[in-house]
Amino acid sequence: MSIQFIEVSKAFGSFQALKSLNLTIDKGEFLAILGPSGCGKTTLLRLLAGFEQPSTGEIYMNQTLVAKPGYSLPPEKRRIGMVFQAFALWPHMNVAEHVRFPIRHHKETPSHIRKNEQHRIASVLQMVGLPEHGSRMPHELSGGQKQRVAIARAIAAEPSILLMDEPLSSLDAMLRMDMRREIQSVHRQTGTAVVYVTHDQGEALAMADRIVVMKDGNIEQVGTPQDIYLRPQTEFVAKFVSKANLIRGRWHNDTFVPAGSDGTVQWSGSRVASYFKSRGLYPARPDQLLLGPPNQTSIQGKVMNVQFQGKEFIYHIRCEDGQWEICSPLHFQLNDKVSIQLAAGEQHLKYNHIGVFT
Ligand code: ATP
Repeated sequence: MSIQFIEVSKAFGSFQALKSLNLTIDKGEFLAILGPSGCGKTTLLRLLAGFEQPSTGEIYMNQTLVAKPGYSLPPEKRRIGMVFQAFALWPHMNVAEHVRFPIRHHKETPSHIRKNEQHRIASVLQMVGLPEHGSRMPHELSGGQKQRVAIARAIAAEPSILLMDEPLSSLDAMLRMDMRREIQSVHRQTGTAVVYVTHDQGEALAMADRIVVMKDGNIEQVGTPQDIYLRPQTEFVAKFVSKANLIRGRWHNDTFVPAGSDGTVQWSGSRVASYFKSRGLYPARPDQLLLGPPNQTSIQGKVMNVQFQGKEFIYHIRCEDGQWEICSPLHFQLNDKVSIQLAAGEQHLKYNHIGVFT
């Protein structure tokens, strides 16, 4: 199913939770809605589900109008599956009964699924990795297993779109990584479009085909994970998604002279967005800056904080321009003097001819 938001806004009283939003969601794509708390992510999802009506604008599903001010196609007619942060399982129903429920009760369940109910339950439980768990009750399941049941229930009636609102945030870190793979696998197997709300940039970058970055009810940037990470178009995206340091200085076409240097240091930046150039800024991710022993030809700084991360250290370095976050495999001590350079090649993630990282 393809979806279009045209000039959609949503107000709660005098508060504008969404401001004139335009967005297309393609058939079968995995779209992440990424942004900090309160930016309007859940409101967007609720509009899509049919729980809220837009204050202005129109929403189309497969070119059919489903919502405008004063009109909203009810949720049960939209063929959507939903998974929330809280698993919301029914304590008196076993796993198979959870999956059976939408098959029997959703008005829009396709007839081939209704007729082969047992087969559908088995195949959905297989898909989420719980083939032997049909007779278990919710209290007999781990957190990860409960979330798998919630996903199985959401996809049971073959929805055209799967809406997920922070589905992993109540799981521990290890389990979240496993569940990312599970959700990717369910998406591949079902081919259903997924709209995935999260405030975790790692999750969005890891799983999505495209990411919509939101702030204060507006869309800041839409793009592939690589676009968003490597080519942020605004200060907010650069900081929120890739923790970039916004370094002040002067631009001469594609060459940047950082303010903290004596003018001899020059960084190349042909792919830096004009947004930053016009503001005299260079967005440098922590991994784009290289630390070394002090020298005369780079920016000089001092180590203010060190955190060991396993394969590298994360440093806070004070230099003339302010404090920058830089990661490095080299080990420096607190208060060490260091030099800072831009990594060669501007970004050391490069694409091969099919657009994959090399
Ligand atoms: P979080 O990540 O914390 O869930 P979010 O990005 O999903 O945040 P929304 O839940 O969409 O944010 O809320 C956006 C804004 O709209 C918030 O400021 C919220 O307080 C406000 N809001 C949401 N629902 C209502 C409502 N029913 N009445 C009044 N204000 C609301």
